[in-house]
Amino acid sequence: MADINIFACEPEWASLSKELGGDNVTVFSATTGLQDPHHIQARPSLIAKARQADLLVCTGAELEIGWLPLLQQKSGNPAIQTSSNGYFMASSYVRLTDVPTVIDRSQGDVHAAGNPHIQTSPLNILNVAQALSKRFQDLDSTNAAIYEQRWQDFSQRWQLAINKWQQLAAPLKGASIVVQHNSWGYLFDWLGLNKVAELEVKPGVPPTVDDLNNVLNKLKATPAKIVINAAYQPSRATDWLVDKTGITKVTLPFTIGGNAESTNLFSLFDDTIQRLLDANK
Ligand SMILES: [Zn+2]
Repeated sequence: MADINIFACEPEWASLSKELGGDNVTVFSATTGLQDPHHIQARPSLIAKARQADLLVCTGAELEIGWLPLLQQKSGNPAIQTSSNGYFMASSYVRLTDVPTVIDRSQGDVHAAGNPHIQTSPLNILNVAQALSKRFQDLDSTNAAIYEQRWQDFSQRWQLAINKWQQLAAPLKGASIVVQHNSWGYLFDWLGLNKVAELEVKPGVPPTVDDLNNVLNKLKATPAKIVINAAYQPSRATDWLVDKTGITKVTLPFTIGGNAESTNLFSLFDDTIQRLLDANK
């Protein structure tokens, strides 16, 4: 087999695929860091790319539920159908948190399978990387030794980086933070940050004035220092809170390409931690 032709749903998986596949893979990312991965149009250009793919590398856990099934179907490509070896969902290799016990779709864009925003923790990325390398080795066994070598190399560099980030982020432990959307659960668990409130009471739905006033009341009892939104999100609710409370706003890249500094997986976390440290001063 020549290159593995990869269709990645999000930039973090495109980047990880390139780290692990090097010159043996061709990678296309369906979205950029400034697009909302919950809501993407299954455009003809994406269908054409999906038609040529040997392997889908996506988040899963229903993040792409509004567009990926349609792409798979319209591509007519047997290689990337759900039971095929060319279907790789990163969230299958991570323990998902925030799995709702009751699913009520009237309560907004509920993530019924649990929180799909797994790329906000480098520990998750390590698990996904190991599984993805195995998949490359299965799909392209001629080059298995190369993929194995690249995984070993990546995992060493990544674990060193994790140690560095944990040391750098130590002063953030216990910091009280408000989030716009519940995108940061894994980051918070990893670094020991404390989520005080969420602006989007219904996920994916802009908060009402009542919702925002409830958050304001909550912050009177439990003050927070920082409010986080993702680069791709309109920040109206966040800006409102900043205006009312003087709390510090931090716009995090959320993925690669979310800002100019976040050009690969390593700089994504360098930048994320630096922005939080700056805001926490
Ligand atoms: Zn979400």
